[in-house]
This record gives sequence, C-alpha cells and structure tokens, in this order.
Amino acid sequence: MTPYKAPLRDMRFQMNEVFDYPAHYARLENGADATPDIVDAILEGAAEFSEEILAPLNLSGDREGCQFKDGVVTTPAGFKEAYAQFVAGGWQGLSCPVEYGGQGLPVSVNVFKSEMMGTANWSFNMYPGLSIGCINTLLRYGSLAQKTEYLPPLVSGQWTGTMCLTEAQCGTDLAQIKARAEPQADGSYRITGTKVFISSGEHDLTENIIHVVLARLPGAPAGTRGISLFIVPKVMVNADGSLGERNAVTCGSIEHKMGIRGSATAVLNFDGAAGFMIGEPNKGLEAMFTFMNTARVGTAIQGIAHAEASFQCALPYALERRSMRALSGRKEPEHAADSLIWHADVRRMLLTQKAIAEGGRAMIYSAAQLADQLFNAITARNATQAEEFDNQLGFYTPILKGFLTELGLEAANLGMQVFGGHGYIHENGMEQIARDARIATLYEGTTGIQALDLLGRKVLLGTRGQCVRDFAATMWRFSRQHLLAAGSVGKMARTLAWRAMQWNLLTTRIMLRARKDRDLVGSASFDYLMYSGYVMMAYFWALQAARAAQLSASGQGKESTDFYQAKIQTAVFYFERLLPRADGHRVGALAPTASVMQIGRDHLAFK
Ligand SMILES: Cc1cc2nc3c(=O)[nH]c(=O)nc-3n(C[C@H](O)[C@H](O)[C@H](O)COP(=O)(O)OP(=O)(O)OC[C@H]3O[C@@H](n4cnc5c(N)ncnc54)[C@H](O)[C@@H]3O)c2cc1C
Repeated sequence: MTPYKAPLRDMRFQMNEVFDYPAHYARLENGADATPDIVDAILEGAAEFSEEILAPLNLSGDREGCQFKDGVVTTPAGFKEAYAQFVAGGWQGLSCPVEYGGQGLPVSVNVFKSEMMGTANWSFNMYPGLSIGCINTLLRYGSLAQKTEYLPPLVSGQWTGTMCLTEAQCGTDLAQIKARAEPQADGSYRITGTKVFISSGEHDLTENIIHVVLARLPGAPAGTRGISLFIVPKVMVNADGSLGERNAVTCGSIEHKMGIRGSATAVLNFDGAAGFMIGEPNKGLEAMFTFMNTARVGTAIQGIAHAEASFQCALPYALERRSMRALSGRKEPEHAADSLIWHADVRRMLLTQKAIAEGGRAMIYSAAQLADQLFNAITARNATQAEEFDNQLGFYTPILKGFLTELGLEAANLGMQVFGGHGYIHENGMEQIARDARIATLYEGTTGIQALDLLGRKVLLGTRGQCVRDFAATMWRFSRQHLLAAGSVGKMARTLAWRAMQWNLLTTRIMLRARKDRDLVGSASFDYLMYSGYVMMAYFWALQAARAAQLSASGQGKESTDFYQAKIQTAVFYFERLLPRADGHRVGALAPTASVMQIGRDHLAFK
C-alpha cells in the first residue's frame, strides 16, 4: 500500500491562494494567533503525525479490529500509544477555548488537522472526533460548573466523549426514544435504557468517557419535544476532579462491522446511571443539534478523506502497472506494454477521484470559514450575526455531508477499479478504503435524511428558496467578473451563470409543485441534493481555476506553472465530465411522483 502523504501543496494553495485564510484569520477575534507561520507549523506537525504514527496503523487496525471481553474493549495494537502521543501533542485542544486548556485557535485549524489524521486512519480519528462534538455541546449548553468539571480533561484528550442518540428501534426518528431519566432529590437523574451503535462508547484509550445521552423525563411530552440531554460519565468525578466509583453504564457488546473496524461501536446499557442535565428540560434535541451539525461537517470530511486516500494509492499503481498499448500508439516502446496511465478510461477514474478530493476540499474550506465566523459570533454573544452564519452553514451542511460522502464512496470504489482484481485483495488496502467509506453515507443522518433536511427544511420551509438565491448570487458575482475571460475560465463562468439561474428555477418549480403534491419533496429530495452538490462543486472548481490562471499569468503564485495548469485542467474535466450529471438529477427531481408512489406496497415483489 502506498504510504499516506498529506496533500500539503493543495491544502496551502486552497488556504492561502484561493480562500485567503491569512486575511480571514486577521479579521477574526480569535485569529490573532493563527499567523501564517503558526498555521503552517501546525499543518507540518499534523502531516507528520498522520504519516508516521497514524497511517502505519490503518491496515493492521482493520485486520485486528476492536476486541470485546467481559465488558472491556481493547483497541487494535498501537492505538493506545498513538492516542497518548496525540494527547501529548495537544492535538485535541487546538480549537478549544484557552480557559479550558485549549489553544483557542479558529475551528478551521482543527478541520485541516482532522482531514489529514482522518485520511491516514479514519478509525483512530473517530475517538477524538466524537469528543469535539461533546466539547462543543458543553460549551454551548453546559452550566459553568459542568464546563469547569468536564471540559479541561476533554479538551486535553485525557477523557473522550460520545454521542448517545440511537436506540434499537430508532436512529433517524428520535421521537421514538425510550431511555428514561428519573429526577433525584440531589438534582441529578438516574438514566435507564439501552443505546446502540455508540461510536467510542467503550475503549481502553482513556480512563474516563463522558457520554452525552438523550432520554425522557417522567411525563415528558411524546415525540421530539419531550427529549432532554444528560451528561453520564463512565466513571464518576469527585469534587476535587479525581475519579470516583464506576457509574452504572456498561458496554454490552461491540458491533462486527463492514469497515472502520478499529473504531469501537458499542451497545451501552444504562442501568440507573447517574446523569446530569445539560440545558433545559425537554429541549435536548435542540441542544443535540449543535452536536450533530459539528459531527456532520466532520463526516463530510470523511468523503474527501477516502477520495484522497484512494487516489493516492491508485495513481502510483496506474503509473507502474502495465497493460496493452495506448489506443493512440505505443507510449513506452521499451516495455512489453504501456502503463495504465495511458488509457483514457483509467485517466477518467483518476481524474474523477482527484476532482472529488480537491473540489470537496474547497467546499469544506469555504464552510470552515463560516464555522470560524459562527463560533466568533457565539463567543462575542452577537446573536444576529450568529444566526446569519448559522443559517449559511446550515445550508452547506446537508450538501457537504450528503453529496461529499456519496462521491467519496464513488472515489473509493474507483480506486479499487484502477487496481483491477488486485483492488479486491485485502493486503493492497483498496477494499478497506471502500469498506471504511461506506459508513459515511449512513451515520450522522443518512443521505436521504440530509436530502430532506436540505430541500424540506432549509430550502422550502426555512427560507422559501432564499438560501439558494443567496448562493446563486455568489456564483453570479463570480461569473460576471470572469464572463468575458478568454479560454476555459470564461467558459466556466458562462456555464456557472446559467447553472445559477437553473438552480433557482428548479427550486421554484419544486416549490410550486410541492403545494399540490405532498410526496414531491420526498421523491425529489435525493436528486435535488445531488444536483445542488454538483453545481456547488462547479463553483468551487471555477474559483480554483480562475485563481490558478491568474497566479500563473502574473507569476506571483507560490506554486509551479505545472501545478496551476493541472488545476485548470482538472476543473475543465469536472465541468465537462462530472457537472453534466446534474442534468440527470434535475430531470429526476422534476419527475412526477407517481412512478415512485403509485405501485402498491404489496406489489413490489411477487412470491
Ligand atoms: C458504525 C456506526 C457508528 C454509529 N455511531 C453512532 C453514534 O456514535 N451515536 C449514535 O447515536 N448513533 C450512531 N450510529 C447510528 C446511526 O446514526 C444510525 O444508524 C443512522 O442515523 C440511521 O438510523 P437507523 O439505522 O435507525 O436507520 P433508519 O432510521 O431505520 O433508516 C433506514 C432507512 O430509511 C430511511 N428513512 C428513515 N426515515 C425516513 C424518512 N422519514 N423519510 C425518508 N427516508 C427515511 C433512511 O434514510 C434509511 O435509508 C452509528 C451507526 C453505525 C453503523
């Protein structure tokens, strides 16, 4: 397997030359310390840790998996030592507040780090990744006492956190949650119930795990309005911060999974475990949404992580493996056959992977700037600004999570395809990437649920299409600037102007039809999400191409002419080969619901 190499050249190009992160950080209240030198040192450090510590444990971690015996979970060999190094390096607290022991850097810095560590070893990345959501929930909704008690060890990485929503009967439909919380005289609660599929629910990396659990109070209203949120520590914490008795929460088993086998997915039994309410009674789901949105952007990173990992292995293989002669004549006459790279279909696969990884990275880097601004506004208690950035990020989130994880899966499969039959063999690592990538479209809200969130909640109900009009306006501003440019950038700008109009029109047509046909939103939502993703990614590819063309012409860029040229060529590939898929999704989104809904429920199969 080709050793992982962090794509620092592309990361720096996007950060500095496309999104101008130095100027962005200079505008942020907590951006003063994120100077180019510091950010660069963090990138280098995270790259080294990912390449040298995490990547070598990826294949072995998958082979060995997590082990469960008598309630104890053992992570694969090397994970514990790697986690200790992760903690010693201060990686968990990069973007956490200084007052709780973090480094106070903008959240985007953590995104850059997570991409590299996740690409190197997604299973490992799950342990600290879940903690970030737990930390954010406590920061936003926890009381001062809860923050003081739990945040410092979570921020340092000494403890990890989980998110306990799912029960056997419900993952998507949390209205069906049954876990109960009985109030106690001392103000605490006794939590009873079973949660399933809990990532990092039990492991041997840390001495304590802080579970954030959804449960119902006695007499709480039915449905989502009757759910509250609780902190349930695995080990109780004494007043002086030392660890006390074991709480009544135990791991019943761990799942035997298709992928991310080094990540423990636990069944947790709460048998009257001591819990402490976070936020207000019956408003737990609202609070948990903070957790879920953070986690969803984190999962979107998984899409590009697997695309990048698979591409990094497929490319050298295509350069070395030989098969037949190129259709346009022999390219390497000194060899018995030409290498795979000369075959157009292999190039199609490689360029698709590259376009997904780098196009997706641009989408995430743009969203990360919004996340920085959102956190700044929350810290500054500027509710108006916080709402504005939250809405913008809320529009990005389902597209990033749904579209990028679907495409990440495609890219992972293409990597296997480039390897031919050798891609199917465990030792080559390609089938593991595909298996690991598969979960990303399922957890943190399936693609179907992201699609409903986008079309139903964000676009139709929430803004009556305004969020699309706003993004289309951004596309239009870019287009106007480059409309008359010569060559491929001008062409991309003209295509984008047309797509901006088409996206708005598609939204309006669905909005009008949905008034008469209630099933339309459901039947159109997946295609609408994918359409939106392809058009959004086109904008981010055009942005990269325009910048590359400008820097190449001016000679003021930090990269080589070849690098910029390859950017423009990949953008052209995207516009010619991948963006047209949006048309199929547009047609699907507008198709009458009848073909989906008219067939009788007993007529889908005949025995
Ligand atoms: C490896 C792994 C790790 C996980 N980690 C965690 C974790 O840490 N914490 C946690 O709480 N959970 C976790 N989960 C659970 C995960 O989030 C759920 O499995 C997921 O949300 C889907 O829920 P479900 O499995 O109940 O599927 P269901 O909700 O039963 O859905 C089944 C199918 O029906 C579709 N569907 C459901 N409702 C609708 C609807 N209204 N409209 C249209 N389509 C619909 C879905 O899109 C899906 O395709 C994890 C799961 C796995 C496998």
